[in-house]
Amino acid sequence: MRLFTYYPNPSNQQDTRVGIFKDASQKEWIALSGVDANLPATLLEIIATPLWMKRAKEIQAQANLSWKSADGIAFAPVIPKPEKIVCMGLNYADHAKEGGHARPDYPSFFMRVPSSLLGHEQPMIVPPVSDKLDYEAELAFVIGKRCHRLTKENALEAVAGYSIFNDGSLRDYQRKSTQWTIGKNFDQTGGFGPCLVTPDELPGAAHGLRIQSRLNGKIMQDSNTEHFLWGVVETLVLISEVMTLEPGDVVITGTPAGVGYARTPPVFMQPGDTVEIEIDGIGILKNSIAKEVAR
Ligand code: MG
Repeated sequence: MRLFTYYPNPSNQQDTRVGIFKDASQKEWIALSGVDANLPATLLEIIATPLWMKRAKEIQAQANLSWKSADGIAFAPVIPKPEKIVCMGLNYADHAKEGGHARPDYPSFFMRVPSSLLGHEQPMIVPPVSDKLDYEAELAFVIGKRCHRLTKENALEAVAGYSIFNDGSLRDYQRKSTQWTIGKNFDQTGGFGPCLVTPDELPGAAHGLRIQSRLNGKIMQDSNTEHFLWGVVETLVLISEVMTLEPGDVVITGTPAGVGYARTPPVFMQPGDTVEIEIDGIGILKNSIAKEVAR
């Protein structure tokens, strides 16, 4: 199944609904609440309840639905307000090396906050205080049930599905101190979408998926999730050793080599650019780059 969150009225970003794509082509969709008004209004509530996930599957299989063209959907972040967004740094050896880091013994975990998120086809924002906005292609996964101290054997049971993330980073702010939080949390810099793909549609642990970023059509990063230093299972074991994970929590799994700041000369995203992140079997997350509008 491929589920997403959207704004029925793009000028009101407090109001979101859940849609489902007809199939993997992601070309046609329907509003879940339009078929069954009993379904909860948020994707977080749906993935947290096996009964609702079953109902969504039944709806997808239902004959005679009026599927609509996906053109013009105003996508919200897949989970607009997760309780936690746990991020991994340096999870591909080639990216650690390009940043001058030794191969790590433990992932560089950090957090993002929900105000930094934006949906598929929404603009990523260059703030007035920095022109060093960089892309990072990442596999994201979303937690479907409360869990703590997962083991290698049961870790994948916690995953509701997979998505795509662009861990947009203001590199000068990221390096103002010894940890990266402040450069990773500007408003509307973390692209998240277009949809949540349930694990049954992908290889186990999303292993062996090609991951690519393209800036204005030019390939900037091109790797594969088989190159993770810590795969999805190991990551879940490490995080849940520390904190209880809740439904809707998001984990982003680090980026491969080819980011803009490590290039000669460095490349940063400019207003008017278009950035795409593609992961095999999941889809394409596409965002334009725009200047912040005065608020
Ligand atoms: Mg990252």
